Amino acid sequence: MSIKIILIGAPGSGKGTQAKKLKDMTGCLHIATGDILREAIRSNSELGIKAKDYIDNGKLVPDNIIIDMMKEKLQSINSITGFILDGFPRTIPQAKSLDNILEEIGIKLDKVVYIDVSLDEIVKRMAGRLTCPTCGKSYHKIFNKPKQDNLCDVDGAELIVREDDKTEVVIGRYNTFESQTEPLIEYYDKNKMLASIDGEKDIDEIFTNIVNKLKL
Ligand code: AMP
Repeated sequence: MSIKIILIGAPGSGKGTQAKKLKDMTGCLHIATGDILREAIRSNSELGIKAKDYIDNGKLVPDNIIIDMMKEKLQSINSITGFILDGFPRTIPQAKSLDNILEEIGIKLDKVVYIDVSLDEIVKRMAGRLTCPTCGKSYHKIFNKPKQDNLCDVDGAELIVREDDKTEVVIGRYNTFESQTEPLIEYYDKNKMLASIDGEKDIDEIFTNIVNKLKL
């Protein structure tokens, strides 16, 4: 099944979780800019070195870096595989660049799904998040515990709280979302591309609502 969509949501809105479920259902490519950047940091690549301080401080990586990275990445997509964009675009200049890239490769977006979650709910959710520093898998102290206390199920590494999951940084990232990313909601609404979803339901109910909006 081929879908071509963007998922928009504040950090901690659950868009990564929904993107993975959509990928499992459709077999489409899941492109998560946060994952690409964290992998670049782990492997100490040039991109990782450029991005690290921005990410640790909960700031957006500058548009030119992200746009170059995504231009390269998007060359590999086609309308048969389809794609789920998770974390890109995050600013109006990024959205305009994406429009240009898609026009160049002759692909049309199906929908932009906005997962709407309040700051209070996000702070509650992020408070218990744990991440494996080696493979990137995430857990939650209460809702999604590892099999063995504080150790990754996949590789046994000791779990950490990501720098950008600390409460002050979470609030900063939410503020950045409001000022830089929320304008995209109006941008895509004007183009009649937007589907808004209540992100404060349980994971499966949110997924069902997304699937219905996408008419899958
Ligand atoms: P995420 O995992 O999507 O929450 O992304 C983690 C961090 O990566 C963000 O807080 C930003 O610092 C950076 N990042 C990810 N995607 C973008 C983007 N499209 N534009 C700028 N920075 C980004």
